[in-house]
Amino acid sequence: MPPGPGRGARDFLTDEEKANRPKVTWPLLKRVFSYLTPYWKQMLVVLGCIIVSSVLGLMPSVLTGRIIDQGLIGRDLRLLILLILLSLGVTLGSNLIGVAENYLNNWIAQHITYDMRNKMYRHLQRMSQSFFTSNNQGDIITRMTSDISGVERVVTSTFTSILSNSITLAAAVIIMFRENWVLALVGTLVVPLFTIPTRWAGKTRWTLTRESQECSDQINGILNETLSVSGQLLVKLFGKEDEEYEKYRAANERMIRLNIRESMAGRWFRVVITTFSSVGPMLLYLVGGILMMKYDSDLTVGDISVLVALLGRMYGPVNSLLNIQVEWIRSMALFTRIFEYYDMPVEIESPPDAIVPERADGSVSFEHVRFSYDGERQILKDVSFDLKAGHSVAIVGPSGSGKSTMINLIPRLYDVTGGRVLFGGNDVRTLDLDFLRDKIGIVSQETYLFNGTIRENLLYAKPDATEAELIDVCKKANIWDFIEKQEQGFESMVGNRGLKLSGGEKQRLSIARVLLKDPALLIFDEATASLDSISESKIQEAIDPIVASRTSILIAHRLSTILAADEILVLRDGQIVERGAHEELVKAGGTYTELYETQFKRALEREQS
Ligand code: ATP
Repeated sequence: MPPGPGRGARDFLTDEEKANRPKVTWPLLKRVFSYLTPYWKQMLVVLGCIIVSSVLGLMPSVLTGRIIDQGLIGRDLRLLILLILLSLGVTLGSNLIGVAENYLNNWIAQHITYDMRNKMYRHLQRMSQSFFTSNNQGDIITRMTSDISGVERVVTSTFTSILSNSITLAAAVIIMFRENWVLALVGTLVVPLFTIPTRWAGKTRWTLTRESQECSDQINGILNETLSVSGQLLVKLFGKEDEEYEKYRAANERMIRLNIRESMAGRWFRVVITTFSSVGPMLLYLVGGILMMKYDSDLTVGDISVLVALLGRMYGPVNSLLNIQVEWIRSMALFTRIFEYYDMPVEIESPPDAIVPERADGSVSFEHVRFSYDGERQILKDVSFDLKAGHSVAIVGPSGSGKSTMINLIPRLYDVTGGRVLFGGNDVRTLDLDFLRDKIGIVSQETYLFNGTIRENLLYAKPDATEAELIDVCKKANIWDFIEKQEQGFESMVGNRGLKLSGGEKQRLSIARVLLKDPALLIFDEATASLDSISESKIQEAIDPIVASRTSILIAHRLSTILAADEILVLRDGQIVERGAHEELVKAGGTYTELYETQFKRALEREQS
């Protein structure tokens, strides 16, 4: 069947049935209800409220008969007033119970979404790095926000409306048959006629809703990509404003078209329903009149009025119940989407019997490590090296050779696809993940700072750090002079992702943050972007003593950084092609010599000039 808008209604129906059949399974329902069960007591009260208010809601219609027959036709003013007051009282009572039900319902819905949101956030936090690099941020946020908000709607409206409408309908049918079975039969036969327009509207709305959900995801994606700090910069620098605007405008136009079509589908549906709903009462008057006049039935005007009023009360519930099919399917789809996220395996987590060593010496070993992001292209091919505690190693290599990938394997941002990575003598996959990550400090190229004060950013590494500790690490990271000069000192805001700071300041701040964490192993991914020589030497001054005093891995782009390390590993195409000390490597005439001539030497000359 060809996809897209060219599909016929029949095809669509089969497609819909096919798409939805597996969704509403027992395990799915059980799972949905498992989120409701903690609130079963409150739900029982809600059920009670629904039953009482639905039945009470029908009473005024029944009382109408007695008002007409005994009050008006029987000319009994006292009874008339009494019946009117009773009817009003019953209406008020049913509505007040409705208010209580509504409150409780909302309470339950809010608590369920609260539970689900927290669970989702916790789950997403545990997802591996590859999940975030391969999923669109907009999609993830939509799952977190609008899908889970949809659950609130399901609980407050879909579930309760199924219950209250079924109860009202059942009660109305029972009362009608008790009044007069012939008229009740006529009335209930008119009702199924609703199915035709309802099914039509259901189909149309279902397609439109799906399309508009896709469209809204697309719009969110565009906004997230182009209005983010780095996204808008990219757009500006490449002069893509018009192109991006056109993309956004087109998606926006599609959205308004869909919205209009969606609301029109609902409006046409109402036209048909209102026409049908006026046929029912007329039929009852006609059949009732014939029974009274031709068959001498003991039917009264009041009885007919009761039946007409009850029939009027049936349309709403029937209408909703038939429509609920769409709602129901939509709700189940919503839950399925959320559960899909819940079910995504957490690829990287602590093993059940995780090792938590007494202390970590920071040593690292790579044993025949192989790695691939996609299972096809090998990024690391048989990488082996040992870094002893207290020593340091510099990794150099052309761009894309796999340097960042190598260090990502140590804190298990990714897991190896072959071989082993050992930390302190233990395979990282056997260690407790919190322990492992706690012992490793990374100063990455892309220093991530939160939009807050310098102090807040520093304290992220150690919330209970004292003022003296903060000053100490800032001095070590060579950023103290800068902070001291700021009017607000530690309280200065760093701006969105640290944009108010220069590249060098950001990196030194993040060095200070890592020092505060005091890790057993320090990984420093030197920025490739060229900093001015003052910034570079400030970073250098900060890094040198740190490297000398603890186990460290440096991804180096500058000779001064390389020289600070005890050993140099030269990586090329995912393999260590050379290793040793600077003097030997320069003379060897291999990749290192090439890098030295093209990169390091030039950077050194720049630094010195
Ligand atoms: P640079 O010096 O430019 O930072 P690098 O040596 O650190 O480069 P890596 O970032 O490790 O190189 O990348 C090695 C290879 O892996 C590159 O070809 C890159 O395209 C690829 N790669 C990096 N990250 C991912 C990812 N998340 N998914 C798929 N491929 C990736």
